[in-house]
Amino acid sequence: MSDAPKEIETLIEMMSKLPGLGPRSARRAVLHLIKKRSLQMGPLAEAMQAVAATARECLNCGNISTTDICPICASEKRGNGEICVVEDVADLWAMERAAVFKGRYHVLGGTLSALDAVGPDDLRIPKLIDRVETEAITEVILALNATIDGQTTAHYIADQIPDGVIVTSLAQGVPIGGELDYLDDGTITAALKARKAF
Ligand SMILES: [Zn+2]
Repeated sequence: MSDAPKEIETLIEMMSKLPGLGPRSARRAVLHLIKKRSLQMGPLAEAMQAVAATARECLNCGNISTTDICPICASEKRGNGEICVVEDVADLWAMERAAVFKGRYHVLGGTLSALDAVGPDDLRIPKLIDRVETEAITEVILALNATIDGQTTAHYIADQIPDGVIVTSLAQGVPIGGELDYLDDGTITAALKARKAF
């Protein structure tokens, strides 16, 4: 606790819950914002309000969007028969940063986990199987993390994909437990190009 007024103390506490920030850096960020309140704090508050009001999950793939159907799902060009399955939107963003994948995505929103009682219905897996048929998918690329849960999920999905559809996974080079978001663009590009039958 500091001697800051209650409202400011509340803001610091909320900020300190953000990923990558602790109480110390939250305090510094808030102090910085207060000093720059007209130039930075006001616009930041407005931007947050706008995103809070418009951000939603794409009804098709689970990507974060400001429309019901995200631009990637809406783009004809991205409908090339390839669908890349990722755990989280951060992974999708990482793939897009690498700018190597030209198809569409499917965001699971996690992995199967017996421990946390996460089943297929909690993960948009039925929706994925549905999309494979309705979007005439020819290849499903599993870009799941190399964790035990990630790989269990990959095997479960591969079993559900109808015969005749190719199932591949990103090449090794994705570190154990490493999330796509932490990889540089070159590594993601190499892992996608060297993908192999799953
Ligand atoms: Zn979408």
